Amino acid sequence: MRKPKIVILGAGYGGLMVATRLQKSLGVNEADLVLVNKNDYHYETTWLHEASAGTLSPDRVRYDIRDVIDKNKVDFIQDSVVEIKTSEKMVILENGEVSYDYLVVALGGESETFGIQGLKEHAFTISNVNSARQIREHIELQFATYHNETVKRDERLTIVVGGAGFTGIEFLGELTNRIPELCKEFDVDFHKVRIICVEAAPMVLPGFDPELVSYATSQLEKKGVEFRIGTAIKEATPEGIIVGKGEEEVEEIKAGTVVWAAGVRGNSVIEKSGIEAMRGRVKVDPNLRVPGHEDLFVIGDSSLVINEEINRPYPPTAQIAMQQGELVAKNITALVRQQEHLDTFHFDNKGTVCSLGEDDAIGVVFGKKVTGSKASFMKKMVDNRALFMIGGVGLTLKKGKFKFF
Ligand code: FAD
Ligand code: NAD
Repeated sequence: MRKPKIVILGAGYGGLMVATRLQKSLGVNEADLVLVNKNDYHYETTWLHEASAGTLSPDRVRYDIRDVIDKNKVDFIQDSVVEIKTSEKMVILENGEVSYDYLVVALGGESETFGIQGLKEHAFTISNVNSARQIREHIELQFATYHNETVKRDERLTIVVGGAGFTGIEFLGELTNRIPELCKEFDVDFHKVRIICVEAAPMVLPGFDPELVSYATSQLEKKGVEFRIGTAIKEATPEGIIVGKGEEEVEEIKAGTVVWAAGVRGNSVIEKSGIEAMRGRVKVDPNLRVPGHEDLFVIGDSSLVINEEINRPYPPTAQIAMQQGELVAKNITALVRQQEHLDTFHFDNKGTVCSLGEDDAIGVVFGKKVTGSKASFMKKMVDNRALFMIGGVGLTLKKGKFKFF
């Protein structure tokens, strides 16, 4: 009998979880496993704010995919996915194509710009290793250029962060650590630098615990961050941004750097492939399959799972992507073995920890609130856990965070 071919698209948290679990659960004679990813490395998306601010080197946030897959069991293809042809059970890649019996789409998310004018051209996003490198280099360039202009432009030293969600806040935390270093390195007066966070909602970290939000806001303000709450970015220009409070109050903020951290959507490959989605995210069935497609699973940022308690989608996180990956590996193993029972997905929320820089954080872990160095320690533990879940002790020792205080 022909072995079924299982193809996994994306080697992020979700995809690598599926690949590493399947290489353990299935024998070489049971199935062919194929993993496709555009780079030959995996990056820790959850550490990209550090690489973007320049507090961690881009190399620290990534590792070779071949270090965690069993080469005898998984055929790794480095290529970019262009389209999925579900009726032909075929994936079109930039440099070829691959057929499948079971497909797992784990391509992650993309930045959502909500059609705001100028953002794509004039703002950076914290999306991958290359975009992180670009932000870091761009900020350094602003500092390096400052003293070399005949007419000094202080706005060159203004950094605007769009969105005070978890990404925006974590990036601000890193910036507050990095800016004093840059000031020293480039002989720039610290008081000339402005870090402005613009948030459309009436509060920072909308929906999160107000006591923890107040802690985070005051810690960041103490380090120089200015918050513009209830203020939306309306446009990005070569000079900075246009913001608005309500319909009438419009203001220009001149800035040398604008980082847009105000939302994610599913991968554009989903919509390009004609798969029904909301903002690129597929509302999957309880087994994490696309409704009407028994051979097609979607996990991670490109999937949408409803939290029945509040009737709203779970936020896209690495935590949920990894749990989905574990479940999909189990379900595919069952399908390959022609077992009838498939498991249904239930998210086990272990909590949220949001870093505020090197030694500070806020979080709710197993229902308990934590702040300061204790929360920061927990954040590093969470980061190390993701490495351990995918690459075991070896990867954790090689890439983990062990500088706690
Ligand atoms: P990803 O991990 O993003 O992986 C997608 C993979 O697909 C990548 O390897 C990419 O290169 C590849 N890919 C994309 N398109 C293509 C293509 N066309 N062809 C081939 N390959 C492709 N979540 C938490 O739970 N905790 C946190 O602390 C946390 N911190 C975060 C901090 C930041 C700065 C950001 C931006 C996000 C954070 N998140 C956090 C959210 C979390 O990172 C995402 O939810 C998670 O990465 C989603 O996992 P995924 O497997 O869906 O996709
Ligand atoms: P988000 O959608 O959670 O937050 C985006 C923020 O931008 C919101 O507060 C929104 O009100 C604001 N916004 C939207 N449009 C705006 C505009 N025009 N002007 C100004 N502000 C605007 O996005 P995110 O922070 O990138 O997070 C994405 C996902 O990743 C979330 O699910 C989050 O939970 C997860 N994440 C988790 C962690 C963590 O657990 N530590 C860290 C980072 C990201």
